[in-house]
Amino acid sequence: MRYTDLIDEKKKGKALSKEEIDFFIKGVVSADMADYQISAMLMAIAINGMDFEETLNLTLAMRDSGEVVELPKTEGFYVDKHSTGGVGDSTTFVVLPALAALGLKIVKMSGRGLGHTGGTIDKLEAIPGYRVELSKEEVAKQARDVGLVLVGQTGSIAPADKILYALRDVTATVDSIPLIVSSIMSKKLASGSDVFVFDVKYGNGAFLKTKKDAQTLADWLVKVGGLAGKRCSAVLSDMNQPLDEYVGNSLEVLGALNVLKGEKNDLYKVSKQLVIAALLLADKTLTEEDAGKMFDKVIASGAAFEKFKELVLAQGGDGSFLEDESNFLTAKFEAEVLSDFDGTVSEIDTTALGNVLVQLGGGRLKKGDLIDLSVGFKMNVRLGSKVKKGDSLAVMYFNSEAQKIIEEDIKKAIIIN
Ligand code: URA
Repeated sequence: MRYTDLIDEKKKGKALSKEEIDFFIKGVVSADMADYQISAMLMAIAINGMDFEETLNLTLAMRDSGEVVELPKTEGFYVDKHSTGGVGDSTTFVVLPALAALGLKIVKMSGRGLGHTGGTIDKLEAIPGYRVELSKEEVAKQARDVGLVLVGQTGSIAPADKILYALRDVTATVDSIPLIVSSIMSKKLASGSDVFVFDVKYGNGAFLKTKKDAQTLADWLVKVGGLAGKRCSAVLSDMNQPLDEYVGNSLEVLGALNVLKGEKNDLYKVSKQLVIAALLLADKTLTEEDAGKMFDKVIASGAAFEKFKELVLAQGGDGSFLEDESNFLTAKFEAEVLSDFDGTVSEIDTTALGNVLVQLGGGRLKKGDLIDLSVGFKMNVRLGSKVKKGDSLAVMYFNSEAQKIIEEDIKKAIIIN
């Protein structure tokens, strides 16, 4: 078999066999296949697609390119939730403690932000002392004692995805359904959990813009997971505006804490849908209504907030830090972004807002860039809000006076008619 023949086949739109896909992934991981050949293959896949069987074979080959984790035995299920990537999207900090407070076990491995979308691990580093890397023994102990572990992805899981993702990011091949499915599912299937809920985003801030493509992605994620022996379901959620009012690393932890303390906004609503989906998968006798009440109860009682605090303490963080909102508002400067018009907010360019965070220093232009956890903005309007000239559209948090000019980009992203 030769790599050029495989690339040529895909270029002509043919389906690749399991043997050919295994050969491709072995070539990727062993570095026998050159980056330019991998990139050509990725582009051929992005343009011509893959059928479901090819996508399943690609996912399994990528899963088997590294370690497949075995979590400590437990009576119930290990549950995980995964978002396909968004802006102001911090459901993890609400969903996981709520599920853990309801007795489910969670060992979640998360990533860092890339492009215009945020990453859980960066946000957690806004909490002083929080350790995003734990040894296998520490993970096992915390899974038993706290029932909730939230750590960074180790390099030993699906190494093929690490190589492919880095190349996709710089070759305009991220928004391909077979490549997204295999990327997400290879990591999830290697991570050891039994139940997965996917938050599949659509809209102008998501990798996939249309609801139809998001539905296909959701169907394929669930089907691949099912064929690999996992219980899976998906929730479609709107990313035509940031999910939470806060966008930024430290700020998004604050937004999630507000929901854990009882605030009922869109972050609360999507988190509730995800918790319901997970509970229904874990216990097939539950009704949707019961599951919804269970979520409301762990929020209202403070049990989910306490579980989050327990997680932070277990991973070396300062639990008292969570009690005071000002700990999360540490940027040197604040500026109100004021409306130039009277009217209604008819559109919000969510990718542009994600890029505002990157410009402020809160996101990465390339892997490994250091980021400023304190910067970001708080949206004071949602789609459909009525505003008058001079009203505050947002508050921007930043650390250098020269950055004040970026407020113009926030203004431009909020279309008022
Ligand atoms: N998240 C992933 O892990 N991979 C993708 O391709 C897109 C979102």
